[in-house]
Amino acid sequence: MSIDLQEVIARIRADYGAMRCKLMEVCGTHTNAIRRAGIHRQLPAGIRLLSGPGCPVCVTGSGYIEQAISLSREPGLVIASFGDLLRVPGNSGSLAEARAAGAKVRVVYAPQDAVALAEQHPDAQIVFLAVGFETTAPAIALAVRAAAAAGLANFSILPSLKVLEPAMRSLLAGGGLQIDGLIAPGHLGVITGAAGYAFLPREYRLPTVVTGFRPAELWLGIAALLKQIAKGESRLENMYPQAVTEQGNLAARELMAAVFAPEDAEWRGLGTVSGSGLGLAQAYRDYDARCKFGLAEIASREPAGCRCGEILLGRAEPEECPHFDAACTPEHPVGPCMVSAEGSCAAHFYYRSRGGEG
Ligand code: SF4
Repeated sequence: MSIDLQEVIARIRADYGAMRCKLMEVCGTHTNAIRRAGIHRQLPAGIRLLSGPGCPVCVTGSGYIEQAISLSREPGLVIASFGDLLRVPGNSGSLAEARAAGAKVRVVYAPQDAVALAEQHPDAQIVFLAVGFETTAPAIALAVRAAAAAGLANFSILPSLKVLEPAMRSLLAGGGLQIDGLIAPGHLGVITGAAGYAFLPREYRLPTVVTGFRPAELWLGIAALLKQIAKGESRLENMYPQAVTEQGNLAARELMAAVFAPEDAEWRGLGTVSGSGLGLAQAYRDYDARCKFGLAEIASREPAGCRCGEILLGRAEPEECPHFDAACTPEHPVGPCMVSAEGSCAAHFYYRSRGGEG
């Protein structure tokens, strides 16, 4: 289907030019795609786009990073991690700094790479930093299961996996989050299915639209949300049916249910949310680095002046942080939202002065 994007944009401006509302996207890839396309610049002035707690690096507490740093200093132990996480500040520094000081930290591109490392280095303990949402969790579950099948005693994960629904419930409970519509994440919907978002309009009367990541998909999703808001409706619309089915990926969800078990998890900005994390199920507890190495909980500390917590709750814009583009830049991030390209601060930094790809 060919779409005249300029016509869609012109119609939004004509129909909703006087509207005042807040739309939230809870997916770091959406945040980046929206800024890159310059959508925030082309919407009517009264329509604000806010980023939510959907960037896995951003919501990871600094106490977790500190646990990983303490492990990285253990002799004979190698930390395997996705690259983004290395620059996230912990309480005392980052994994990149620990690596520069001699700690063994390896960047991997998939959880299975960490299992391969364990096979290649039987004398080393390999600990994979398991950070992500339902989108990443199935691949991590597969890696744990592969390690168990291979009888690898030198592989474990440090779990910090998050599940979006409890966090959204916590945010929306008691009207704590003042938004008028939600742009639901397409990637996550591939696993959870569109049905995974049905509670939002049903229980919270929040207009919700699942969209993809191309400019046209985003614009059409926003147009659908605005139409619902203007008509006083609150429905779930799946505008990304080519990737997101009603029920999602049942095999992936069964795999996750077999390998993981719900646990409480700490979210930057939100605190600890009951049942919002995935730890290892009893059958796979030997692969939990926290048990294996007797790791103690470490309390998270926000970097001084950093407003990532408020930004992740849609209560502040990156430009409102005193560190933005001063002490805090993508080269020298003070907080996690400036680290990953999916982080709100980084997206605002890269695309604030450009018109976007439109
Ligand atoms: S600009 Fe930097 S310090 Fe400020 S909220 Fe964003 S990441 Fe945190």
